[in-house]
Amino acid sequence: MTVIDLESYEDALATYDPVMGLEVHVELGTKTKMFCGCSTELKQDANSQTCPVCLGLPGALPVVNEIGVESAIKIGLALNCEIAEWCRFARKNYFYPDMPKNFQTSQYDEPIAYNGYLDVQLEDGEIFRVQIERAHMEEDTGKSTHVGGATGRIHGASHSLLDYNRAGIPLIEIVTKPIEGAGARAPEVAKAYVAELRELIKALGVSEARMEMGQMRCDVNLSLRPNGTETFGTRSETKNVNSLRSVERAARFEIQRHAAVLNSGGTIVQETRHFHEEDGSTTAGRIKDNAEDYRYFPEPDLVPVAPSRDWVEELRKGLPELPRLRRKRLKEEWGVSEHDMQSILNAGAVDLIVATTDAGAPSDQARKWWMGELARNANETGRSLDELPVTPAQVARVAELVAAGDLNDKLARQVLEGVLAGEGDPDAVVEKRGLKVVSDEGALGTAVDEAIAANAAIADKIRGGKVAAAGALVGAVMKATRGQADAARVRELILEKLGVEG
Ligand SMILES: [Zn+2]
Repeated sequence: MTVIDLESYEDALATYDPVMGLEVHVELGTKTKMFCGCSTELKQDANSQTCPVCLGLPGALPVVNEIGVESAIKIGLALNCEIAEWCRFARKNYFYPDMPKNFQTSQYDEPIAYNGYLDVQLEDGEIFRVQIERAHMEEDTGKSTHVGGATGRIHGASHSLLDYNRAGIPLIEIVTKPIEGAGARAPEVAKAYVAELRELIKALGVSEARMEMGQMRCDVNLSLRPNGTETFGTRSETKNVNSLRSVERAARFEIQRHAAVLNSGGTIVQETRHFHEEDGSTTAGRIKDNAEDYRYFPEPDLVPVAPSRDWVEELRKGLPELPRLRRKRLKEEWGVSEHDMQSILNAGAVDLIVATTDAGAPSDQARKWWMGELARNANETGRSLDELPVTPAQVARVAELVAAGDLNDKLARQVLEGVLAGEGDPDAVVEKRGLKVVSDEGALGTAVDEAIAANAAIADKIRGGKVAAAGALVGAVMKATRGQADAARVRELILEKLGVEG
């Protein structure tokens, strides 16, 4: 890989103003493809989910997937877009082996949704409005596998394999207007936008939007112009960036690279670029064609899409509570600070906490376990919270046992540890590991008597009024009961037996 000299981020921003455009592709979670009845199920045998339509065989006629259109309208509405009363599909012509028709069915000058915006929240709580140019419907391509080379790319490969199972899976492409005015925060805005969009798509239920599985991917277009000027510079397009962190890194890298090229008197080439996870760099792809090179023309085999206003209004009424407003409501209900809410969001814990409270736990308990013990475990084992082998119902059960006095916090942590280790439900772990709080007053009383006898000097101090010294005796009892006593009750018993008022 060629080493590129980068300008420092601070110096780049001292001279230049970044302008970004973000294009996000979302693979819809429909059961069938966009223009035929083939299944969209993944991981099937190569080319087993194909038919004459998605293989582009002569004479095959496509039919639009109604759920695909409905999903596009929902996304458009949630992004505050206008919904076209009438729009068409277009053929985007180019030759590529993973596209059997030699054109992609897309939308060109007549997208289904346009002119919207999405408000995104930055880490310090500030709201930044990203203007949406359009959201349009299109189809995915097949998948090429290049065999025999060292890199998996076509160069050096001896042959290529083609799998058309993905060809024709519905995509929605969401394109922002140029994002200006973010300055040094441009990479942060890019990340926050993609994060918010992902939450929105998930809330709408139109896709799981899992970036690591390619269900949602972002092209980061970036250009620089000298501070104080209006005209946009030449842009680069970093393609298919597939994690939030990578979106931020790609934007940052391109700011530094563009600045270095411009400062050395060079010119930016309008091209696509590949992003590299390992070091956060980008390398040149192909010189970017302009739209006219694709020879777009209206798709003659599909009827126009003309969603009735009644249908659009019905879909608008059925929209779920949008993620940002939901977070605001939960923040108030839970009584947490902006900072804590942001941490909960960053940890991916919002839905898990809600599910845990729905299962009966008080919200402070739900938050405490997910953001404490479980977050630590996830962190240590390199998993996300929702990948942990513990359910919200199990966490709620642990909270219930704590509330009933059957477990204290220390024991509860051990129970969760057992659940994570696959030892079964909380009750089973309590049983197997013998983790119940000692609530037998007789046994506790004996332990307290023994502690008093063994620590006569401390007991005398307490009798003399130094109530604070009781902590040492509580510690001794907790040790004797291996932590399985209710510390508050132990303290009460000690003071009772020594005849002192708490
Ligand atoms: Zn098909």
